[in-house]
Amino acid sequence: MTADHLPHIHNPAPGLWTALGYQGRGVALATIMGRELSLRIRGGEAARDAWPVTDLRPLPFHGLRRPVLAAMRAAWRTRDGLDARSARAA
Ligand SMILES: Cc1cc2nc3c(=O)[nH]c(=O)nc-3n(C[C@H](O)[C@H](O)[C@H](O)COP(=O)(O)OP(=O)(O)OC[C@H]3O[C@@H](n4cnc5c(N)ncnc54)[C@H](O)[C@@H]3O)c2cc1C
Repeated sequence: MTADHLPHIHNPAPGLWTALGYQGRGVALATIMGRELSLRIRGGEAARDAWPVTDLRPLPFHGLRRPVLAAMRAAWRTRDGLDARSARAA
């Protein structure tokens, strides 16, 4: 997943290339991005500008994902329990 919901190509170090961020729909797209990476690695045929090489940037607050997800799970479980109790009482 990426913040802008688009796949990205990165070149984090000389000779190291990566394509990622298919938002769960990468079966066809990863194949196309593989071709883009191949073009860039070979350096012969000019790579298309459709997929610019961008800097890797960490997702803001990504380190908080575990506690936030745990709190959301607990909140939704509590809500489900309350809903079930009201349904039984009706
Ligand atoms: C449950 C699920 C359902 C999905 N459903 C769909 C769908 O319906 N349609 C769709 O378009 N997409 C779907 N996707 C997403 C799609 O599978 C991925 O976007 C796509 O497979 C990404 O391709 P990839 O080649 O980038 O990575 P991957 O397919 O993950 O391939 C990476 C490969 O690298 C290998 N590898 C990892 N680390 C190393 C290492 N250190 N050394 C050597 N090899 C390594 C792995 O074993 C793996 O074979 C789904 C994903 C999941 C998990």
